[in-house]
Amino acid sequence: MRYHARWVLPITQPPIENGTVVEADGRITYVGPSADAPPGPDCELGDAVLLPGLVNAHTHLELTAMRGFLEDLCFTDWIDRLRRSRNDVLAPEILLDSAMLGIAEGLEAGVTTYADTCSSGVVLRAMREMGVRGIMYQEVFGPDAARADIAMGDLARLIDQLAGGQTDLVSLGVSPHAPYTVSDALYEKASAFAAERNLPLAMHVAESEAERQLVADGQGEFAVGLKRRGIGVARRGRTPIALLEARGALERGPLLIHCVRVDDEDIATIARHSCSVAHCPASNAKFGHGIAPLLPLLGAGVRVGLGSDSVASNNRMDILDEARL
Ligand SMILES: [Zn+2]
Repeated sequence: MRYHARWVLPITQPPIENGTVVEADGRITYVGPSADAPPGPDCELGDAVLLPGLVNAHTHLELTAMRGFLEDLCFTDWIDRLRRSRNDVLAPEILLDSAMLGIAEGLEAGVTTYADTCSSGVVLRAMREMGVRGIMYQEVFGPDAARADIAMGDLARLIDQLAGGQTDLVSLGVSPHAPYTVSDALYEKASAFAAERNLPLAMHVAESEAERQLVADGQGEFAVGLKRRGIGVARRGRTPIALLEARGALERGPLLIHCVRVDDEDIATIARHSCSVAHCPASNAKFGHGIAPLLPLLGAGVRVGLGSDSVASNNRMDILDEARL
């Protein structure tokens, strides 16, 4: 089939006006001017831009059903209500439907590749069934260091169960969730596990002031919540990025999600470890977390991708809209 469009954007070369993309047996066999395209049946797209599928560098597809459910809450209340709702209300089959709905919505917006952090493990199947490409980073939680081995046992079992479902298009990774839900011991164990299994890592980090306070001072809203649960808190590092480096979590250049609260030293650390960053401007704005230092990150040579985050923290999934922000 020959797809003709007013503009074709190969990305690896300049835009082509009046361009054609030819597909045969699921493979692209020609990209170039319409006038030079090989013969075949035609599909006229008209006044359109034809470009490769977009990559969403950070999603929580299983939470798509939660759109509008968590509005007007402060971040700590939002996290708390999200966790309780996901665990108590949403059954696995609902989470699977929710993830597939999220992928359908993403496809509408041109997203064909996802870096998804997932608690339930359903997104690998959802991506496979919907025919998209992506990595599902299986989340692991546990702020209490005494329970790190239990959390790791659960993670290893889930990864073993899911591993057979990987294909050329979809694969697994590991995601120790965030500094306020992951103990230092769990960071070390999850990083070692990912290295041993050769799985990529992704982590939420340096997102909020409350997170920075918890790590740098052992204080703030997250510290209060952890103390209430009987979990001891103390200073853990100069910054959340410094904490991850000290625990060996940056060794294999993970995907770092958010990186709003990072200073020059952190940016140098991120670059030194060849980490990539998922920049989620709409989610950061919705919570009032601030604006990630995009230009200094890019200036340091860090690879930055755009992410929508979940629709519970961003009411849409449109990477071009994220780019406009
Ligand atoms: Zn997220």
